[in-house]
Amino acid sequence: MSRLLRLALTVSAISLFPAALATASAERLKVVATFSIIADLAANVGGDRIDLTTLVGPDGDAHVYEPRPADARAVAAAGVVLVNGLQFEGFLKRLVDASGTKASVVELTKGIEPLKNADKDPHDHAEGAEASSEHQHEADEAGHDHEAHAHGEGHGHHDHGAFDPHAWQSVHNAEVYVRNISDAFCAADAAGCDTYKANAQSYGAQLSTLDDEIKAAVAAIPQARRTIITSHDAFNYFEHEYGLKFLAPEGVSTESEASAADVAALIKQIREDKASAIFVENISNSRLVEQIASETGLKVGGELYSDALSGPDGPAPTYLEMMKHNIGTIQGAISGS
Ligand code: ZN
Repeated sequence: MSRLLRLALTVSAISLFPAALATASAERLKVVATFSIIADLAANVGGDRIDLTTLVGPDGDAHVYEPRPADARAVAAAGVVLVNGLQFEGFLKRLVDASGTKASVVELTKGIEPLKNADKDPHDHAEGAEASSEHQHEADEAGHDHEAHAHGEGHGHHDHGAFDPHAWQSVHNAEVYVRNISDAFCAADAAGCDTYKANAQSYGAQLSTLDDEIKAAVAAIPQARRTIITSHDAFNYFEHEYGLKFLAPEGVSTESEASAADVAALIKQIREDKASAIFVENISNSRLVEQIASETGLKVGGELYSDALSGPDGPAPTYLEMMKHNIGTIQGAISGS
């Protein structure tokens, strides 16, 4: 055997090691989560059996997200794509179509009781829809017909559906998400099913404790002090589940800016309802909230996490911490005002 051949064999033997590692990780179930909150739920269920990619990361706004080429590649390679549904991810259909993925696309809101959109005034913001028309035809490069889901309300691409998508703001709904994630992982990776179910069960117990804590915290807030203001309508499920009243200048999507009339109506309502606190949100610009605060004499009570987690060093890097941070911030602002 020549020296050269021996050298070649040695090199290829060495290179087997990284190849073996690559194979081990390739066997993990490839999961894409559309945004940070469901990514955290997925990580709790999947543990180290999954290889998780998150499209809209910490502090990101999924309502107006524009996918990148890397997102299409991740979706194409995925075994499971976890999405919120209820038209939260406006970018989703074109991304899935363009990627050509064979993954099952699993809507985690399946099985919850959805709340209807636009039940609340004064933030029926239909007139404001024109304000964001610059988004309208930006992302046509894939050439897909994205008007297909228009429900005849006249905002076409901007129609965000009949239901409010922010279902994760009720812990009870998060428990449904976790069951759906566990079922999806079991269907895609039967060998891991016992692990997924056990993880879902132990995480579910933490959710149940969290739910009790939030209920106790809200119960300690006097009825007359339970009206609070945020920047967009992301907390209807929290309101419905726990009994605080949330008002917002913007509707359930951040796509459209609040009109002057929306803001004036909200300020009138804040005075009538004697709102006790106002909060900025991590995903949206704080300018409008600060304006409303100064016009009504309310002090900004802190930052709530509505549609995204914080980064790892922030106060809300997981779903459990996000919900605790939000109720703690609300309690602190109301008791300190
Ligand atoms: Zn939102």
